[in-house]
Amino acid sequence: MTDEIKRLKELINASNTVLILPHKAPDGDAVGSAVAWFHFLLNNNKKPTIVFPDRPAAYLLPFLDEIEYLVFETQPEKSLELAQHCDTLFCLDFNDPSRVGKEAVELISSFKAQSVMIDHHPFPSDFCTLQISKPSVCSTAQLLFECIEEMDLLSSVDKNVGQGIYLGIMTDTGSFRYPSVDAKTHYILGKLLDLGVEHFKIHESIFDVNTLDKLQLRGFAINEKLVCIPNHPIAYISLTKEELDRFNYQKGDTEGLVNVILSIEGYSVAALFVESRDGIKISFRSKGDYFVNEFSAKHFQGGGHKYAAGGFSEDTMSVTIERFKTFLNELLP
Ligand code: 5GP
Ligand code: MN
Repeated sequence: MTDEIKRLKELINASNTVLILPHKAPDGDAVGSAVAWFHFLLNNNKKPTIVFPDRPAAYLLPFLDEIEYLVFETQPEKSLELAQHCDTLFCLDFNDPSRVGKEAVELISSFKAQSVMIDHHPFPSDFCTLQISKPSVCSTAQLLFECIEEMDLLSSVDKNVGQGIYLGIMTDTGSFRYPSVDAKTHYILGKLLDLGVEHFKIHESIFDVNTLDKLQLRGFAINEKLVCIPNHPIAYISLTKEELDRFNYQKGDTEGLVNVILSIEGYSVAALFVESRDGIKISFRSKGDYFVNEFSAKHFQGGGHKYAAGGFSEDTMSVTIERFKTFLNELLP
């Protein structure tokens, strides 16, 4: 057992009430990791609560049945009050306080007891008492399983824990396809099936449940809004608020759209610009010798992995896209 894992085990043993905090706009890995950690702690007789910075998208809500959770955006006082009485804060699937958003960051900055970060993104900030950072691991969910195994606590991994881990690994690896998948990933997946995790149900609930509006928005985006940059393997889609409204946009409706852009033959960089109340949320994807995380950090206050990054712009859509075009030479290898 490494010193890090020894400290993690001691910290869990010494905790009673625990707050679990994933990043804002939680994806499958953030929700899956939080759910897995919630059940793992519950199975160890702890009192965990998840606080989401904002409401998870509807397609992830089925995974939160029977889970004790708060949403900071709508329950800030209750969340802060709860944090005051927690022995330990677990920050999952993010590595910088800014990733929980301007409001929920108070949960971290005002937290008085021990805090632990468990995450797989590169370039972690130093903001927790204990930081377990493994950028080589495909997902935070896989990292949690590896931590539990190393702590010799696999006996507290049941079907509920397993479902969260499966969800996190599946969504962060594009269904076990990305280079980040390793033999350990498949070893863990096998263990999860042995626990009774119904993999087909998890796939179905993520990939086979679409509203008509969502599909039509996708069709519109590809048909009318896809722009291919001349002479470069770079393409993007932008969606304004008005366009989203036309298709009754719900959170999560553009999930996976950026990967569709990247799938165009001969293209190596994809960007998706989606307008919201606060500004433009940007998703970048790439492959081969093209990397997007440092580009996003430099120009769009973002970051992430080399092949999958996100960012944000407070400018208008047209100014944001102009900025993207101005700097896109930096994306070329
Ligand atoms: P997505 O495009 O799915 O929102 O994000 C892709 C990847 O980039 C994820 O791993 C996510 O954690 C990371 N990411 C997304 N938005 C941001 C951001 O604003 N800042 C940083 N540092 N990472 C981000
Ligand atoms: Mn992740």
